[in-house]
Amino acid sequence: MKITHVDCHVLTDPDPDLSATSSAQDDIVVEIHTDNGFTGIGEADVNPWIARACITAPGSHSMGQSLTDLLVGEDPREIEELWDRLYVGSAMNGRRGAVINAIGALDIALHDLLGKINDVPAYTLLGTAVRDHVVPYASLQPETDNFDAYQETLVRWALDAQARGFTAAKPSVTLDGPYAHRGLREPWSRATELIGALRAALGDDFTLMIDVQYAFPDADTCLDVMRDWRAFDLYFVETPLASDDIGGYYRVATEQNIPIAAGEWLATRFEFEPLIERGCISIAQPDIGRVGGLTEARRVARMADRKGLRVIPHLWKTGISVAAATHFAAVTSNCPFVEYLPPDLSASPLRQQLLTREPQMIDGVIPLPTEPGLGVELDRDSLRRFADAADQLLARSARRR
Ligand SMILES: [Mg+2]
Repeated sequence: MKITHVDCHVLTDPDPDLSATSSAQDDIVVEIHTDNGFTGIGEADVNPWIARACITAPGSHSMGQSLTDLLVGEDPREIEELWDRLYVGSAMNGRRGAVINAIGALDIALHDLLGKINDVPAYTLLGTAVRDHVVPYASLQPETDNFDAYQETLVRWALDAQARGFTAAKPSVTLDGPYAHRGLREPWSRATELIGALRAALGDDFTLMIDVQYAFPDADTCLDVMRDWRAFDLYFVETPLASDDIGGYYRVATEQNIPIAAGEWLATRFEFEPLIERGCISIAQPDIGRVGGLTEARRVARMADRKGLRVIPHLWKTGISVAAATHFAAVTSNCPFVEYLPPDLSASPLRQQLLTREPQMIDGVIPLPTEPGLGVELDRDSLRRFADAADQLLARSARRR
């Protein structure tokens, strides 16, 4: 059995808002085909044109090979060996960043493919199931340009999530920093006020996580503000500091008691290693595609487990990533939650319309998939429509230059 070819689909919403902070508006979807008629599907959360170039570019020397050429002709059943082959063969251009994100999409597709070939759900390829359902938390990120609307929307959405059966939610309380929504800039006392309003509305039994999206300028400010958040019983605070401020993370993790989560941007276990080994975080948050796929996410989970840490995948993409995270959590004992954006709470048509089949939340949980592979099915009409939208965006961009 051999891999015959790889298709890359660059997709965008029909009218993406380029100023919005949501990366759910675009996608790179890959399909890996075999000579006996099987196809595996994967995706990653990265600029899709860059990822496509990473996959389809020809190689030019032995340490800068083509990812497609490294796969074609290979047996798809040896997934870990294929991951290492892609990593080493692209090492001079890759090792981190977009090349690893692209390898992540391919690795997810290989798991879908092998599950279909073996006629088993993909999680059985990763290990033994440690649960019969996965617990999603609702990820809430409104796009508004003033504080009152932001607070009103977040509290309303959180209550809506609770009414839908979610037992946990993570509102983005991002009132400063690079992710601040539509120029929203407020003093930190407003963030404290907003988190207090969320806790009061949701009651004491609901799991509340807060994402501040790299908003604090330094560890001192962060420690000062988070002292006021101790009363809110937060499950974690996500990415308080810039991603590369490892020293700052160490201080925030060790000088106060609210658990710190980070890792959504990181590629490979090697980028997680300093955070995990030096005690800078309590929760590792690999994005399954971005970290390098299910193979690499499992390596991160094992590294975290050895330190007694939890791992809760980041997820802001389509049902393909929902499926990947569900299969990951099925076999990962230190994974109590997965991030989840309900399609009907998303502003993105891509999130809502790309698939005809994906794992569903039922009574607040996602039961383990039973179909072969990931258990997702592409809607071919939607795929064409989103690919056309991406082509138009590319043409508009070219005309402006
Ligand atoms: Mg985040």
